Amino acid sequence: MRRIIVVGSGLAGYTLAREFRKLDSESELLIITSDDGDSYSKPMLSNALAQGKAPADLPNRDADGMAEQLPARILTRTCVTGIDSAVRQVGLDNGDTLDYSHLVLAVGAEPIRLPLEGDAAEAVMSVNNLDDYARFREAIGDASRVVVLGAGLIGCEFANDLRGAGHDVTLVELADQPLARLAPPEVGEALRRRLEALGVVWHLGNPAQAVAHDNGGHQVTLEDGATLAADVVLSAVGLRPAIGLAHAAGLRCERGIVVDAQLTTSDPHIHAIGDCAEVGGHVLPYVMPLMNQSRALAAVLAGESRELVYPVMPVVVKTPALPLTVCPPPQDAEGKWQVEGEGDDLEARFVDAQGRMLGFAVCGEANSRKMALQKEVPPLPVK
Ligand SMILES: Cc1cc2nc3c(=O)[nH]c(=O)nc-3n(C[C@H](O)[C@H](O)[C@H](O)COP(=O)(O)OP(=O)(O)OC[C@H]3O[C@@H](n4cnc5c(N)ncnc54)[C@H](O)[C@@H]3O)c2cc1C
Repeated sequence: MRRIIVVGSGLAGYTLAREFRKLDSESELLIITSDDGDSYSKPMLSNALAQGKAPADLPNRDADGMAEQLPARILTRTCVTGIDSAVRQVGLDNGDTLDYSHLVLAVGAEPIRLPLEGDAAEAVMSVNNLDDYARFREAIGDASRVVVLGAGLIGCEFANDLRGAGHDVTLVELADQPLARLAPPEVGEALRRRLEALGVVWHLGNPAQAVAHDNGGHQVTLEDGATLAADVVLSAVGLRPAIGLAHAAGLRCERGIVVDAQLTTSDPHIHAIGDCAEVGGHVLPYVMPLMNQSRALAAVLAGESRELVYPVMPVVVKTPALPLTVCPPPQDAEGKWQVEGEGDDLEARFVDAQGRMLGFAVCGEANSRKMALQKEVPPLPVK
């Protein structure tokens, strides 16, 4: 019987499995995951604290529940260690090998580790899955001092959430503004002001250099020599697509695992979706892209002739201090931001030399304009 193996049980792996089962109830579906296979919405990791949700409250189904619902066989706490594409086999960390007809890599991304000095550099935490989150929750305790490294989307969300739950929060960022890769300085400044009003302390343009043990806690030293006391240091400086497995198997990789509009890698029997995938030169580590990829790939695996078409996919930043939506321009797009509005109610358009809007960011009252703006942005090409 035809066997589809999916590596990874994150939003990408499980969404693909669900979409595939809508089209094909016959083929064998085997999901292999290095975690325990709980189905949960990862975006909740950066806004669960203030809502009083414990890590155990986040999964909506465990692996057994998912196996029954799909249906599929799910191997949990099992790592795929190698792919032999010539004989269509994966190797597992328990020594087994398994044959596949089609293999889907939904292996996600790995947190980038900053090259920090100091004897506590290894104690810096990052949160990219439920296990990380459980460890982080255990570490923060009551009213602890948390230093967050990185004021991108995830760092700002954690700062807002931690502050909402009563922790002392300091945000440290290399750039001169928060959300530097997603929005213009005016929008970043509006968010900075709102988070500061909540009690978040900022160090912009002044990256962390070292983290050392100090009196049972940590001392973070910044580039200008300033020191910050912290009980916990959380790094949110970004993620890198997990390409190791694909690369070792000889699949074409650039920033991510390169796939075409049918989500197929340089091997016609191997596919990639989600945070690990690079489609048409774009690595888009968000939920909407992986949903669209999953639907397209499910159709391809079910034998339909389907190509991925991305709609416009804005991302809602989960900072209740300032409602904010970003629709970043493509990575190498040339143009400039044009900002209108007053105070914290701003509409920013990223416009190219021909006057076309390629992206936008809206905050405060201007959020009500996001649907209208969305209609003006051209969809991302995937070829
Ligand atoms: C804190 C946080 C907040 C976010 N908020 C938002 C948001 O508000 N909106 C938004 O659009 N996006 C958000 N994102 C991004 C979004 O959550 C991700 O894009 C998405 O969850 C990625 O899913 P994935 O399945 O590709 O990867 P992952 O969820 O990382 O899943 C990877 C899976 O692969 C498994 N795996 C990896 N290697 C192996 C191996 N060798 N063998 C077996 N299994 C393996 C892992 O165990 C895991 O099950 C957020 C991300 C974070 C971290």
